[in-house]
Formats: sequence, C-alpha cells, structure tokens
Amino acid sequence: MTVRTRIAPSPTGDPHVGTAYIALFNLCFARQHGGRFILRIEDTDRIRSTSESEQMILDSLRWLGLEWDEGPDVGGPHGPYRQSERGDIYAEHARQLLEAGHAFKCYRTSEELDELRDARKAAGMHLALKPADLALPVEEQSRREREGWPHVVRMKVPSSGTCMIDDMLRDPIEVDWAQVDAQILLKSDGMPTYHLANVVDDHLMGITHVLRGEEWINSAPKHQLLYEYFGWRMPVLCHMPLLRNPDKSKLSKRKNPTSINYYRRMGFLPQAVTNYLGRMGWSMPDEREKFGLDEMMAHFDIQRVSLGGPVFDLEKLTWLNGLYIREDLDDRAFLKALMEWSFNEEYVNQILPQVRTRVETLSQVVPLAGHFFSGLPEISESDFDSIKLGREDLVRLLQLLIWRFEVVPTWDKELLLADIKMLADHFELKMKEFLAPVFIAITGSSASTSVMDAMVILGSDMTRARLRHAIEVLGGVSKKQAKRFEKEYRELP
Ligand code: GLU
Repeated sequence: MTVRTRIAPSPTGDPHVGTAYIALFNLCFARQHGGRFILRIEDTDRIRSTSESEQMILDSLRWLGLEWDEGPDVGGPHGPYRQSERGDIYAEHARQLLEAGHAFKCYRTSEELDELRDARKAAGMHLALKPADLALPVEEQSRREREGWPHVVRMKVPSSGTCMIDDMLRDPIEVDWAQVDAQILLKSDGMPTYHLANVVDDHLMGITHVLRGEEWINSAPKHQLLYEYFGWRMPVLCHMPLLRNPDKSKLSKRKNPTSINYYRRMGFLPQAVTNYLGRMGWSMPDEREKFGLDEMMAHFDIQRVSLGGPVFDLEKLTWLNGLYIREDLDDRAFLKALMEWSFNEEYVNQILPQVRTRVETLSQVVPLAGHFFSGLPEISESDFDSIKLGREDLVRLLQLLIWRFEVVPTWDKELLLADIKMLADHFELKMKEFLAPVFIAITGSSASTSVMDAMVILGSDMTRARLRHAIEVLGGVSKKQAKRFEKEYRELP
C-alpha cells in the first residue's frame, strides 16, 4: 500500500500558519513512508471561498518549501483537486446513499427546525436532531415533494449507543451517538457539505492517512458512518494538537498574527518558519531545536507528537530566525534573502509611485519609504500628542478599526475606505481627523506617504499588527474597556 496524505484547506481568508503546520506533518508522514502528499482545495462554501485566497495558500506553502505531488495547479491522476469542480461526483454519491436508505430528503423549513430545537431545549434534551425528529407525516412529505419545496439531503444516524473512533495518537475516542445530528450532506442548492465532499474525496483520491487538527474530532463519527454506508475502508485518523497563543488559548488572529503573509512581510526566513512549525508538538530524537525539512523528514515519527497544546511563540520564532541568519547565511545568501524578501522589482514597483512625487533627491527615498521595509514602528505615547482625542477614544478608534479589518473579505482599497468612512461617521470625525492616529500607527510618523496605500501594500496582517502595537504603546485595552468596545462594535452598521 502506498501511503497517501493530504492537506485540504478551505480558501476563505489569509493563509493560516495552522494550515502550514498540518501540511508539514502530512508531508513528513508521506515522505517517511515513501508515499505521496496531495493538496485539495475545499471550496464548497461558495460565498466565502475566493481564488485570491487559494492562490495565497498555494504561494505560502510553496514559499515554506512544502511541495505537493498532486493538486489543482500540478494536476494528477485523481483530479480535479478543487471541490467546486466535482459537483457531479457528490450528487451521484448522495443519490447512492438515498437509494440505499442511508440518507433522506428533508423538507423542514428553518422555522420548523428552530421550533424543534427549542422544544428539545425546553425538555432539557440534547440538541442533536435525529431522523425521527425531522420526519414529516407521509402526506405532508409527499405534498412538499410534489410542490418542489427546497430540501436538503441528510444522513441517517443512530439515536443511541456509542461510537468508537481510533486515532494514531490517542486511545479510542468514545462518542455518544445521541449527540450526533442527522448531518446535512447536500445543501438545498445541491452543493455538498464538508462532510460528504471530504469523505468522498479522501476515498476517491486514495488517501490512506488523515492528519488534521483536533478541531475535527467531532466530525469523525459522521465520517466513519459514511465510510460504512459506502462500504469503503476508512483512512487512519490522526488528530493533531491545536496551536496555541502563549496564554494557551487557541491561536487566533485576535491575539497573534496568524497569516503566513505576516511572517513573510516581517522578514522571517521560510526555513526558520518551517523548522519552528516542526517544533510544534514534535521534537527530533536528539531534541535539537534547529533542523531542516530534509532532516525532519529523515527522522520523522508521528509517535513523537505530544498532545499538550504546542505554543506558537513569536519570541522563540524570532530567536530561531536569528540563528538561521547568523549561522546559515553568508553574505551572498544574506543578500539573496533580502532581495527575495523586499528588495525586488515586484515589491519596490509598488512603492515607487508612493515616493516619486514626494522627493527632491534620491537620498530622501529611504527615510520616506522606511515603513515599507520595517516591522513594527518605533513609536511612543507622545507621538500621539498632536491628536485631539482622549486616550480612551484613541484606543477605541484603533480597536474598532482592527476588528472591522479582521473581517474584510478581500484586502482591497475600496473596501478599506468604506470601513474607514463608516467609522469616521460613527466617531463624528472628518476622514482626515480619523486617519491621523492611524497614520502614526502605520507609518511611524506624522508625515509620510499615503496611509491608505501603505495599508494596502503592507497587507492585512502587518496593518493589524501595527494598529495593535499602537494600542499597546498607548497602554493597551483593559478587560472592561474591551467589553464596552465589543458591544459598540456589534452595534455598528
Ligand atoms: N477543509 C477543512 C479545513 O479547512 C479540512 C479538514 C480536514 O482535514 O478534514 O481544514
């Protein structure tokens, strides 16, 4: 048997370090067994998936040196590798389940579903809805069918008993069937849900081992049952521990930059980031901290993964990156790294229009454009003295802006401007007044290039990191303030 593993990202935002972490372990596992590593794009969520996000994921993984053998861009014998191009396959498999009586068409309206859930809640019962709860009287079912009401296809699930899930790293996981609902497999628009598409594809793509984040454990019973229904052998499962912030909470962009784009813009070396991800819950047999991808592959053993939540610590990563710069790069390699990072035509070309009209001698370029080539600016509280806002309002303004920026679907100037206009109105400030503190936070000075363009060029994560840094410089947000700000944020238009 050839080992086949995969990474199956959903292209719905920035390329996440968690995706790279899981990709790395799948790649090492496959290579250790002389197997193949596949990249599949899970873009069944047509509203949130974007092609820019897909491109960024591919670019970032490649930047980190995590190459795949089959995928949407390199092809392979089991394509297409993008779920949005496999609609017929899922429809056909849903039909098979319906025919075999393992799934049913559900014509319940969302109001009815709410009522059913409320009733269960009131009775103190578990909220999982079972086929029997969802069933309509036969006549009503055929009426809705005849009249062509919108419907979904759901899988049948047992109402009681326990389900045992085997996992490479854990004792068998016991799940009570009572907690598992009659999962939707096909949505009313005919698109599959993650569960159906994931199982069908893993099978058809010959995946033998599924290494994925532990947040997917709850899906495993449904998947196991689907494999049984289809009469297929299930891949071996391995749920990896989630990456954590230093305070042990789940790694989230609210507390830490999570996008690979940020680490790239910040000037981390890909080999250092990959090495650091390899240290997440895993160690080399000799416990050394610094090792290359080849070494990791050569010594890989999944049993060396420890389940205690690995902490993704920026300080540690920075230290490791420094080691790489000092120990591995001679002058030539250092220059090459700098050129790949920012001193290249592609990046500099974005900056030229920002500076050309603002300088009289070439030597003014570097001081003026320094913020495009730096990390967090060196600012202090007094830099904000010129702003006529109290400290709390200042922090509030920056915080609400960060939260809005967290959810812009594409990092595009028009969308950013719309958010800023809305917030300026909300604060009853002119655009210029609203942007003044943002300007300082982003460029590190009160006179520089356009702050709007700077944010677009720097990207979402670097922008948010600088805004967050400014908040810290201003004394941070207390828990009480955060609560108030959140309430205000939720009420924004
Ligand atoms: N599309 C899922 C994700 O975004 C894949 C989960 C899995 O590996 O099964 O992570």
